Amino acid sequence: MDSHNPATGERLETYDDHDEGDIEDILASADDAFESWAETPITERQQLLERAGELLREREDEYAELISEEMGKPIAESRAELEKCAWVCDFYAERADEFLADEALGSEPHSRTFVSYEPLGAVLAVMPWNFPFWQVFRFAAPHLTAGNVGLLKHASNVPGCALAIEEIFRDAGYPEGVFSTLLAGSDAIEDVIADDRLDAVTLTGSEGAGRAVAEQAGSELKKHVLELGGSDPFVVCADADLEAAAETAATARTINSGQSCIAAKRFIVVDEVYDDFLDRFVSEMESLEVGDPLASDTDVGPQAREDLMTDLHEQVEESVAAGATLECGGEPLDREGYYYPPTVLSEPPRDSPAADEEVFGPAAAVFRVEDDDEAIELANDTRYGLGGSVWTEDLDRGERLAREIEAGCVFVNELVKSDPRLPFGGVKASGHGRELAEAGIHEFVNRKTVWVQ
Ligand code: NDP
Repeated sequence: MDSHNPATGERLETYDDHDEGDIEDILASADDAFESWAETPITERQQLLERAGELLREREDEYAELISEEMGKPIAESRAELEKCAWVCDFYAERADEFLADEALGSEPHSRTFVSYEPLGAVLAVMPWNFPFWQVFRFAAPHLTAGNVGLLKHASNVPGCALAIEEIFRDAGYPEGVFSTLLAGSDAIEDVIADDRLDAVTLTGSEGAGRAVAEQAGSELKKHVLELGGSDPFVVCADADLEAAAETAATARTINSGQSCIAAKRFIVVDEVYDDFLDRFVSEMESLEVGDPLASDTDVGPQAREDLMTDLHEQVEESVAAGATLECGGEPLDREGYYYPPTVLSEPPRDSPAADEEVFGPAAAVFRVEDDDEAIELANDTRYGLGGSVWTEDLDRGERLAREIEAGCVFVNELVKSDPRLPFGGVKASGHGRELAEAGIHEFVNRKTVWVQ
C-alpha cells in the first residue's frame, strides 16, 4: 500500500498490507478484548478518551503535516480537523455516561421498566480519506466509550493516518484489541463483515461503497450505519444578505479543496438577486489562494488523487457540453500535483453532472429559479439528502424552507457543518443512521428493555 503526496505526485511511503493471517490475529484480538472492555466502568473509558484528546492536541503539528502530505488538505484546515477530533473526545469524555445511563420508563404499580444501553461488540469502520482523522474519531469517540471495540479499514491512500490513529489509542492506554487498524484494500472487507466475531459496520464514503457494504451487512443481518455522498443545496432568497451569502458560499464549496460530503454543491438563487449573487460569488471564488497545502495562506490545495481530479474535470466538461456556462476555472492547473481551480458553472441543465451527480471538488453549479417554491422543488430534485443551507433575512421564512428541504440537516444563514453536539447523517441516497450527539452513541448499542415485576 503506497501513500502519495498529491501536491507533487511523489510516493511518500510504502506499507505492507495485512494478509489473511494478520487479519485473523486482529479479529481474534478484538474478540478477546471485548468482554473486559465492556465491563470496564464507563468512567474509566471516559478517562482514556480524555487522554486521547490530550494526545491529539500535544501532537497537532506532527499529525497536521501528515494529513496535509497524504491527502493534500491545506495545513490550517488539518489543524482545525485535529482540534475538532480533540473536541469530540472531550464531548463524549464528559457526557457519555449521561447518554448511556439507564432510561426509566413509566412504572406500573408493581413493576419497574427501563432501557439499558449495552455495547454490541466489534464494529468495523470503513472510512474515507477526505477527513482522515475526523471521520475516524467521530466513530471511535462514542462507540469505544460505549464499550464496543473498533476495527478501522481506512481508505487505501491514507495508511499513515490510519496507523497514527491506532498509535493515539495505544499511547492513551487503551487495552490491546480495543482499537485496531486493518491495512487492507476493500476486497478484504467482505470476509471481515461475514466473520462471526464482527457485529456491526459503519461506512463513510461513496454511494457505490455504501451499497456494497450494506448488501454484505444486510445479508449477514448485521447492524450498519451509512454516511454517503451529498449534493447539498444552498438556497439564496430575494431578501438574503448577499455579501454574507456569497462569501460563505465560496467557503462552503471549497472547504477541504471541495472534497466534503456536506460542501454546498448546488447554489439555487431566486431571479431577483441572481445576477448580483453570481457576480459576488465568482469574485469570491477567484480570490481564493490555490497552492501548496503546507503553506499557511493556502485556501485550496490539490485534489487528493489524480483519478479524482480527472473525474471532476470530466464532470465539468460534460456539464459545459450540456449547456452550462463556465464563469471561472474549468481546467486543471498546469503544474505538478493534482490542482483544480475554484470553478463556477452557471445554469447547468438538470440532467448534467453538475446538477445530477455529487461533484467532489471545488466546482460549483449556480441555478436561477423564479421564487422560493421553485427553489425548494429544485433543492429536492436530487437523489441525495445530506444537508442544506438557506439564506434569508426573514427567520420564519428560513425555518419554513428548512422544514421543506429533504435532508438530514438544514442550516439557516450558516454553512452546513458537523458538530459533536448535533446529530449528523442523511436521508435518501446519502445514507441512514446518525453520528455524533446522543443519537450517534445510541447507534451501536443494544437498547435493552428491562421489566422488573
Ligand atoms: P470510496 O467510497 O470508494 O472509498 C471510501 C472507503 O470505502 C474507502 O475506505 C474504500 O476503500 C472503501 N470501499 C470502497 N469500495 C468498497 C467496497 N466495495 N467494499 C468495502 N469498502 C469499500 O471513495 P473514493 O475514494 O473512491 O472516492 C470516490 C467518490 O466517492 C468521491 O469522488 C466522492 O464522490 C465520494 N466520496 C464521498 C465521501 C463522503 O464523505 N461522503 C468521502 C469519500 C469519497 P479503498 O480506499 O481501499 O478503496
